Amino acid sequence: MSLPHGGHLSHGHTASITSKCFNFCHYKVDSKTELINYDQIRDLAISVKPKMIVAGASSYPRLLDYKKISQIAREVSAFCLVDMAHIAGLVAARLIPSPVPYSDFTTFTCYKTMMGGRGGVILSKQKYGKKIDNAVFPGCQGTSAVNLLAAKALIFKIASEDKFIAIQKMTLKNAKALAGALKEKGYRVVSDGTDNHQVLVDLSSKGITGKSAENCLESVGIILNRNVVPHDAKNPGKVSGIRIGSGALSARGMGEPQMLQIVDFMDSTMMNHAKEELLSEIKNKVLELCQEFPIKKSI
Ligand SMILES: *Cc1c(COP(=O)(O)O)cnc(C)c1O
Repeated sequence: MSLPHGGHLSHGHTASITSKCFNFCHYKVDSKTELINYDQIRDLAISVKPKMIVAGASSYPRLLDYKKISQIAREVSAFCLVDMAHIAGLVAARLIPSPVPYSDFTTFTCYKTMMGGRGGVILSKQKYGKKIDNAVFPGCQGTSAVNLLAAKALIFKIASEDKFIAIQKMTLKNAKALAGALKEKGYRVVSDGTDNHQVLVDLSSKGITGKSAENCLESVGIILNRNVVPHDAKNPGKVSGIRIGSGALSARGMGEPQMLQIVDFMDSTMMNHAKEELLSEIKNKVLELCQEFPIKKSI
């Protein structure tokens, strides 16, 4: 999936070493719906005959149709790899569909919605297990990182517990609340909503770039990142959008009332980003909210 359309750097972007190891052809989202167009993937697959089709995104607020993607892969005799880095926690909690029954390989990272430490996981169909193991060691890695293995084991244990599932449920609800509140204030939400933990906001009609929004929001203590939106007209440094994730807020125990409050803070900040006095008032309110919902020592 093309990076400016929501894909990840590591999926063959020219700035990533993956583009030097493999020859990637990118698919995009539909310009109207801003959703993945599976017919377009199929056409592209038939014309380029890839060895593997990669699905998975870093900024795509909707669900993927893994069945369709894997069918296309089978049709052109390609492997199907799903990189579920962002959404692994939601999948682990069984709240959104899992790619595992459909893909040959599924990769994910243990932080993001998975809520663990840094480190990755490769799942595969049993028949590829030995090849994957050999590709990791001795193919790419030296001594196995046993400290990281222990950390992964711990987060997998936690992921089976009710408290983890409750946070993931809240993560979905909170993302919907953020998207709804932003829309109510006249912001354009990419794809008109969200099915996961992400909300991608197109600021192009609001007279502020993604970069300025990121900076002024950071100055009041709200951390998110600027992000390209599909068919972004602004240059890659400034960009038209911001990307919000609801995972960290949900892990602190925040719920829908706090999401509305946060959208109020965001809107006042972005629409008044030159008014220093007002910004310092908002900063205090953000701090108060954070103190009311402190980061927990364990979930
Ligand atoms: C974040 C992300 C990665 C990278 O994971 P790291 O553990 O940070 O290296 C890979 N793929 C996708 C789709 C991601 O969103």
